[in-house]
Amino acid sequence: MNDEPLLRVRDLRVHFPVRGSVPWSARATVRALDGVDLDLAHGETLGVVGESGGGMTTRGAANLGLQRFDSGEIRFAGRTLGPDSRAGERDGMQVIFQDPFASLNPKRRVWKSVGEPMLVRGERRGTTRDRVAEMFAAVGLLSGHLDRLPHEFSGGQRQRLAIARALVLRPTMIVCDEPVSALDVSVQSQILNLLNDLQVQFGLAYIFISHDLTVVKNVSDRIAVIYLGRIVESAPAERLFAAPAHPYTRALLDAVPKLAGRGASGPRRLLEGEMPSPSQVFRGCPFRARCPVAVDICDDLPPPVIDLGGAHSARCHLAAPQGQEDKPT
Ligand code: SF4
Repeated sequence: MNDEPLLRVRDLRVHFPVRGSVPWSARATVRALDGVDLDLAHGETLGVVGESGGGMTTRGAANLGLQRFDSGEIRFAGRTLGPDSRAGERDGMQVIFQDPFASLNPKRRVWKSVGEPMLVRGERRGTTRDRVAEMFAAVGLLSGHLDRLPHEFSGGQRQRLAIARALVLRPTMIVCDEPVSALDVSVQSQILNLLNDLQVQFGLAYIFISHDLTVVKNVSDRIAVIYLGRIVESAPAERLFAAPAHPYTRALLDAVPKLAGRGASGPRRLLEGEMPSPSQVFRGCPFRARCPVAVDICDDLPPPVIDLGGAHSARCHLAAPQGQEDKPT
């Protein structure tokens, strides 16, 4: 039996030039992803969380196999993707953005926008329109609205259109990039329920990117916490919320009052200070300047990824499996 995950990412680096900075400087580079390893199983949801601001978590994570990357390895559905692999090589991956207008042409009949991924692959219009009607039904839209324009739909309906567009090529994985953050709370839950139903119906795996920990908690099987382009903690969702091991994760959870009842021990601490520039190069731990429990070694040595058991790991000098919590100084 082949137990290779649907997506396997190793040491992935996605760097961008810094906008507005000195363009000729070799250091003017944002490390959106800086050595990311992750696996995603068929039908699984991996939540990806990080701090608001800068959009780098989102921009970086949305690049997981969907756009070019600088170095590293991506294997998807048994194929190895190169840094400049083209769209056709990435069949099976799709993305849903926060703003559905990103994938809907305001002047185009919606069936054509939704069916565009098929049309550009040379599918016949009739076949495409039939598939779009099928996807309309799957996402709870009326086939009688195929010829409408995007502005004739509500915000929630437009997000359903974007989901239908992501589904027309029958993907096995969808990157959901803050898919409900622009919606009213009542509509949010409808879209989250829809994504859940579609996951079961089509056997989809999701990478669910959000700054909203409450949403991520509700939808994820596992969660990866990203700080400055690196995964600093990864764990099954329940375990991450009950026993966060990285000081950054603990601070993120402490900032959400309704999550305050979690089982973690110790005082609640809120994050202080600004996130450093993602173009900064660090000698020790990138979280050092904001970390309330830092020790001397954090200044000089990058923390290793510590395996805490139970598919839980943390990138911190002080992280240790239960019963082995001797702290370095
Ligand atoms: Fe804090 Fe040190 Fe752990 Fe970094 S390695 S999170 S500075 S304790």
